[in-house]
Amino acid sequence: MFEKARIKLTASYLLIIMGVSISFSLGIYFEVNQELSRIDVFQRARIQRITNGIVVPPVTLPQDVDAIAEARARIILILAAVNILILLASGVGGYFLAGQTLDPIAQMMKEQKEFVSNASHELRTPITSLKTEIEVALRDKKMTAADARNILRSNLEDINNMQKLSNYLLELHRYQDSEEKIVRKKVDLVAAVSKAIDKISVIAKNANVRIVPKFEPATVMGDEGSLIELATILMDNAIKYGKKGGKIIVRVNRVGKNSQFSVQDFGVGIAPADIPHIFDRFYRAEASRNKERIEGYGLGLAIAKSIVDQHGGEISVKSKEGKGSTFTVII
Ligand code: ADP
Repeated sequence: MFEKARIKLTASYLLIIMGVSISFSLGIYFEVNQELSRIDVFQRARIQRITNGIVVPPVTLPQDVDAIAEARARIILILAAVNILILLASGVGGYFLAGQTLDPIAQMMKEQKEFVSNASHELRTPITSLKTEIEVALRDKKMTAADARNILRSNLEDINNMQKLSNYLLELHRYQDSEEKIVRKKVDLVAAVSKAIDKISVIAKNANVRIVPKFEPATVMGDEGSLIELATILMDNAIKYGKKGGKIIVRVNRVGKNSQFSVQDFGVGIAPADIPHIFDRFYRAEASRNKERIEGYGLGLAIAKSIVDQHGGEISVKSKEGKGSTFTVII
């Protein structure tokens, strides 16, 4: 599909370049031709003047005619050669340029395809489980009320998972793809992070994780809702991948002109090979996918990075396997 588009684009480039080149060549040819005609007339006049007095009709010497015709033929030849050269060079150059132009679009489409395929895959799992459970339940003639409640509970879990995924997808669209820009206002970072702590407190309590705040006053220009979302994602991860029954430290402070916010956990840590990819959409480190089997879609950090990008900030991570990780955001 892209090869076709590339050839079409090359043809458009060629059409424009050759249009300009042929127009110039015609211009040059007509100018030169006019000049040659003037020389022609002058030659005849000169011949007439020389022969004046003797009264002979103007004679055009054959060598003059030959020279002018030759000059005309030469100019046509040169212009044709130049145009062929331009055609060849712009064909090759245009094809290369079309490739360069289309490459980022091809890459974007590839990512988009991967994204749709990943999202559908993630949705298919809970849908299949939901469908199977309902089908089995419908076939079961001896089902008790307790059995039915258990199935409904499991169905609800699948529905919650799908809801979580669709919320993530919407957020990702909001922060990554939509044209909508955040409205920046002065935000008290301590207040925003505290609200995120309130939001996450039930999850922390269930996981028996203590959140230790270490706050210094700091403000940023940003969107409070997005910043709360960002802090929630990082703390949610710190709880998920942190030490069960342990603590996470949440810091807010100023560094020079910037405000900084970090979340430190003492859990599984991240392998160096995974670090460059964890902010990619749907990326999950090997350990979280297999060994530890921690629930997730690999979208949280992609959303977090988009929020930081929209604020013109930076997000970084320091991690040691088995020792823990610290995610730091500077705005
Ligand atoms: P999810 O947690 O849903 O898998 P994220 O995008 O939030 O998705 O994180 C991507 C991956 O980065 C996770 O699967 C996990 O492997 C790794 N990760 C993120 N935060 C931490 C953390 N605090 N400690 C260890 N690994 C982490």
